[in-house]
Amino acid sequence: MKKIAIIGGGIVGSTVAYYLSKYQNLCVYLFDSENGQATKAAAGIISPWLSKRRNKKWFKLATDGAALVKEIALETNMTSDIYNNSGTIITRKNPNDLKVLYSLAKQREKNNYQMGNVEILTSKEIQQKIPYISKSNPGIFIPGGSKIDGELYCKHLQKIALKSNLIKINKKVKVDNNMVYYDNQEFEFDKIIVSAGAWINECFSNSMIKFDIYPQKGQLIDAQINTGNKFKLNELPVLMPEGQYDVINNYDNHLFVGATHENGMNFDLKESKKASTEMIKQIDELSNINNNKIFDVKLGTRAYTNDFAPFFGRVPNYKDIFVASGLGSSGLTTGPLIGKILSEMVLGNINLDISLYTKDVNEYLTK
Ligand SMILES: Cc1cc2nc3c(=O)[nH]c(=O)nc-3n(C[C@H](O)[C@H](O)[C@H](O)COP(=O)(O)OP(=O)(O)OC[C@H]3O[C@@H](n4cnc5c(N)ncnc54)[C@H](O)[C@@H]3O)c2cc1C
Repeated sequence: MKKIAIIGGGIVGSTVAYYLSKYQNLCVYLFDSENGQATKAAAGIISPWLSKRRNKKWFKLATDGAALVKEIALETNMTSDIYNNSGTIITRKNPNDLKVLYSLAKQREKNNYQMGNVEILTSKEIQQKIPYISKSNPGIFIPGGSKIDGELYCKHLQKIALKSNLIKINKKVKVDNNMVYYDNQEFEFDKIIVSAGAWINECFSNSMIKFDIYPQKGQLIDAQINTGNKFKLNELPVLMPEGQYDVINNYDNHLFVGATHENGMNFDLKESKKASTEMIKQIDELSNINNNKIFDVKLGTRAYTNDFAPFFGRVPNYKDIFVASGLGSSGLTTGPLIGKILSEMVLGNINLDISLYTKDVNEYLTK
């Protein structure tokens, strides 16, 4: 029986585990240290179509990724607290900027049916869609936009895999060649997938493998808003106001507001009180409701590469080691597709040209 190890149980590793669970002839181990995980701390917005990024490989990965998240949600019966296709609204202060964005949206809509029928919304129409908002600039509504709870997504897929062929071990491990090391023990695997996010180099620190990757701190708040339980927040669209924090309407009377992008903080996960105060103040101002409270603060470490693009695939000169990292601020959108492709690569079942999605892994190794 083939033994496969997955290192890291974030969105990439959990998706790999899910796809490999379809093969009863495999024995799959998932090792996860569960610290600082980006997936758990993420805002959860899936709406890549109007991104300003010019990287074509990233755009294809993110748009195909958004479609796959929906497919996985349907295929595995995810509940609306895990995945919800509630739409996204992007606002603009300047009417001209709104016009430009709308014409881009209409153009992109033609090749990206998942966006749905994009429309311009006046401030009043935005207030109708999100009734607690008391003031907003006009914007664009993308019906295909959605939100995902990263932590619940991973738990859901891992639960399916655990019923099949997965064994989960909550340990921090190191990898060298075909060996996985922890607690002074060593275990040999036929194939190893390292999806350890920003910690990928630490995981390979006993080997010759080193990637050009750096950590970025992200923070958001889980706010409790006083809506008087008049409507279900979870069914309302995500709001992405220009130059402000995004607002992700969530469960009960909770919403997420964020996130920060803090470079040069290494793996620090201390709360910035200043950022939390700004975030709750934004909700007070947008809603004109007082006494909204910070229920929780979420902190995570994103992984970045020098060209801001994720990488994944086989490590050059190591036929049995596969990696993924550098998913940055859009990993909930791209991670499921990366996980699916990696699961096909380890089994040798891939008939897809991955250069459509990513540069060669070699490009991201430290020279
Ligand atoms: C605040 C914030 C907001 C975000 N918002 C969004 C958003 O709205 N939309 C979007 O698409 N993306 C968003 N992202 C980005 C997204 O969360 C990440 O890109 C994505 O989750 C990365 O997934 P991953 O599986 O590569 O890594 P991670 O989720 O970081 O998982 C890596 C896992 O590996 C484990 N690990 C590390 N080293 C070892 C080891 N040696 N042994 C065992 N286990 C190990 C870690 O504990 C962790 O569990 C956001 C991120 C943050 C921080």
